[in-house]
Amino acid sequence: MKQRLTVLGSTGSIGTNTLDVVRRHPQQYEVFALSASTQVELMLAQCAEFRPRYAVMASGPHAVQLAQDLKSNGLPTQVLQAQNALEQIASHPEVDVVMGAIVGAAGLSPCLAAAQSGKRLLLANKEALVVGGALFMDTVQQNACTLLPIDSEHSAIFQCLPEDRSTWSTRIDSLLLTASGGPFRQRDPATLAEITPAQACNHPNFSMGRKISVDSATMMNKALEVIEARWLFDVAPEKIKVVIHPQQIIHSMVQFKDASILAQLGTPDMRVPIACGLAWPERIESGVAPLDFTALAGLTFEEADAHRFPGLHLSWQALNAPEGTTAVLNAANEVAVAAFLAGQLRFDRIHAVNLETLGTLTPSQPRSVGDLLALDDEARSVAADVLERFAA
Ligand code: NAD
Ligand code: MG
Repeated sequence: MKQRLTVLGSTGSIGTNTLDVVRRHPQQYEVFALSASTQVELMLAQCAEFRPRYAVMASGPHAVQLAQDLKSNGLPTQVLQAQNALEQIASHPEVDVVMGAIVGAAGLSPCLAAAQSGKRLLLANKEALVVGGALFMDTVQQNACTLLPIDSEHSAIFQCLPEDRSTWSTRIDSLLLTASGGPFRQRDPATLAEITPAQACNHPNFSMGRKISVDSATMMNKALEVIEARWLFDVAPEKIKVVIHPQQIIHSMVQFKDASILAQLGTPDMRVPIACGLAWPERIESGVAPLDFTALAGLTFEEADAHRFPGLHLSWQALNAPEGTTAVLNAANEVAVAAFLAGQLRFDRIHAVNLETLGTLTPSQPRSVGDLLALDDEARSVAADVLERFAA
């Protein structure tokens, strides 16, 4: 039987890589629904190729445009325009697998809808877990959702761990997250103020969405990943460590109690963790060339420079603060990065906005999705005020 798939964020970097893997396995996977924000042309092409039953555009005018274009091209895909259309395609009874590849907290509700309906959820959307925290994991466990990490570091750790989760807490000593260090690993910190959005989005090893590219450049991406790892693997924050490994060949490691370390290696290409999540525990071809060890000049490791990357440490700080603080950090960072990309905030002030927002807002314990969404809203408005003081 074919697995029916919904791709949330199908026009993005993870979304298009997902469809590239799916394209190679027409006997195994069938696309049920696709979603995007504003890219009508690419969505139309995806609908023409994969013939999904439904498509959702987060932006109303773009949804209208897509519906017209589908019609004039004689394509049968139906555009859903309901307020909860993303939740509908994520939880539809005919769907087996949901790829969560929306960027930011906007992906939280649809990912939770997939978890609530017990789907196989491939989670690239790390912000959903950073905001959702314990509530997200409880939803996964209570509804027999199969949660598979797509972030390459977390996929690596997942692949290094035994399948029986109940053994993890007694066997794991620590998790070692590797980080590329981004494009400014060696740049003179005194010049960070001059960095432009184009420079920040020019990652050395990957072509990714703009938001995660900026996060990689500030290492806030790794901060979000520390938080993500804490929830995915139920490991205490101080047992999660970060090591810079510029070649991105080792995608992360698990250190066990006896000091043995397992690592997952490969060509840095997101189609590997995507294929792994789609087929788990089976393995399918991903389209990625295997690693040629003889072509590697070497693997190097270094400590993350706290002066250059002050945001990294906010992860441990937020995890040790009242519950909900990671949601505040995420919201502040989304606001700050958007302002940087719009030319309204200096690169080196993204951290200042995050820090100041954390200092201004102490959350009361969020107990429901509604609480989390309200907290996300509140933190965005605090961050917007803070931003005014730091704006370029
Ligand atoms: P992207 O910007 O390339 O794509 C984002 C997708 O989400 C697009 O399809 C866009 O239309 C859609 N979208 C954006 N805002 C939306 C909104 N408000 N509502 C509904 N849809 C919306 O981003 P990406 O690089 O593909 O990253 C997606 C997620 O995967 C992020 O959370 C990122 O951190 C994570 N991730 C990405 C990579 C990577 O290599 N790109 C690696 C690991 C994790
Ligand atoms: Mg990652």
